[in-house]
Amino acid sequence: MAGPHRQGLNPPMPTTMLALVKPSAGPGLRLEERPIPEHGINDVLIRVERTGICGTDLHIDAWDAWAARTIVPPRIVGHEFAGRIVSVGSNVTDFTPGDLVSGEGHVVCGRCRHCLAGRRQLCASTIGLGVERDGAFAEYVALPMTNVWQHWPGIDEEIAAIFDPFGNAVHTALAFPVLGEDVLVSGAGPIGLMAIAVVRHAGARHIVVSEPNPGRRRLAEQMGATLTIDPRVRELADVFAELDMVEGFDVALEMSGNPTALRAAIAAMAHGGGVAILGIPTQEMVLDVNAIVFKMLTLRGIYGREMYETWYKMTVMLQSGLDIRPAITHRFSHRDHLAAFEVARSGDAAKVIMDWRAAGPDETGPGAARSDEGAGSQ
Ligand code: NAD
Ligand code: ZN
Repeated sequence: MAGPHRQGLNPPMPTTMLALVKPSAGPGLRLEERPIPEHGINDVLIRVERTGICGTDLHIDAWDAWAARTIVPPRIVGHEFAGRIVSVGSNVTDFTPGDLVSGEGHVVCGRCRHCLAGRRQLCASTIGLGVERDGAFAEYVALPMTNVWQHWPGIDEEIAAIFDPFGNAVHTALAFPVLGEDVLVSGAGPIGLMAIAVVRHAGARHIVVSEPNPGRRRLAEQMGATLTIDPRVRELADVFAELDMVEGFDVALEMSGNPTALRAAIAAMAHGGGVAILGIPTQEMVLDVNAIVFKMLTLRGIYGREMYETWYKMTVMLQSGLDIRPAITHRFSHRDHLAAFEVARSGDAAKVIMDWRAAGPDETGPGAARSDEGAGSQ
């Protein structure tokens, strides 16, 4: 890409920013001063206001085997965010400084068969924000304009910050028709929790949630679950009679990554059911293929979000009353990132938000002036 283009800036841009960085191979992240990213003629520069912590960020922080083979330090982490455009490249006409936006964290090649056909979520050359390129846990992030989603004025800005995982939830929840159906959600982490609200909004009959963590089961009830169970003490089939279910679940959303959960879901499916698999297991697993064959189940892997049909659906469902706010349980300043990561790691939280505005260089800019107006207003 050509050199940096910054337009419409007043007062002049600072040249450095704070960013949460994986400085070198090994555990831990550090808040460091870094140059503000340069951006090309097709890119935008965004002043990050709020970010969400994802399981991916916890893996990178902990430096597990996946992180060690995937991340090349130094790397700015993070991909769930909302912020305001501060500068646009000379080819960019759809965005203006001050616009509230989020980023699609999968940067696709744009040239492969699937990209050219408009199926960008199927691109095999995807680059991950905060994984393979510098991410959004920073005061500024640069992205191609084709990776930017503009929000409507008045959206709850904390919700805007979690459009990425909300999109995982929507993509999975809408993989099979749920109107009138009995739906199983395995795993009530932040994404499972949001998926419960989505399938409720989309007209499911019963939503049974399997989750060992009692705090998350309580949140699942708040999000609209019909019934929650602890899979360590109760079988899924036990609930059928109680809920007047004849045969089993019509749709299952696997959102735990746990092999036992996927096996239990397959065993509890009705004939012809659909199993959407978002959860990422850490190893290969054995499945009962006989059950899949004789029940004629459809198993479907889900990765990321459909670009940009999922983003459209997220927007219009929020505008028509979908409420995912209970999935956000904690808020921290970016300066308290250690505490924020600690809480996110604990399993007692659901979605944890870090606020990047405090003491930032553009506190008097458009972001600061409008930062609170959206609260609770969608
Ligand atoms: P999370 O780890 O916070 O949630 C998983 C939940 O599953 C936890 O609450 C855990 O208690 C529960 N669980 C564990 N064992 C279980 C069992 N046997 N039965 C039922 N529940 C069980 O994760 P999250 O952030 O909500 O993400 C959900 C999953 O989706 C994770 O596996 C994550 O890696 C994966 N993910 C996939 C994509 C994708 O694009 N495919 C994107 C983001 C996250
Ligand atoms: Zn591609």
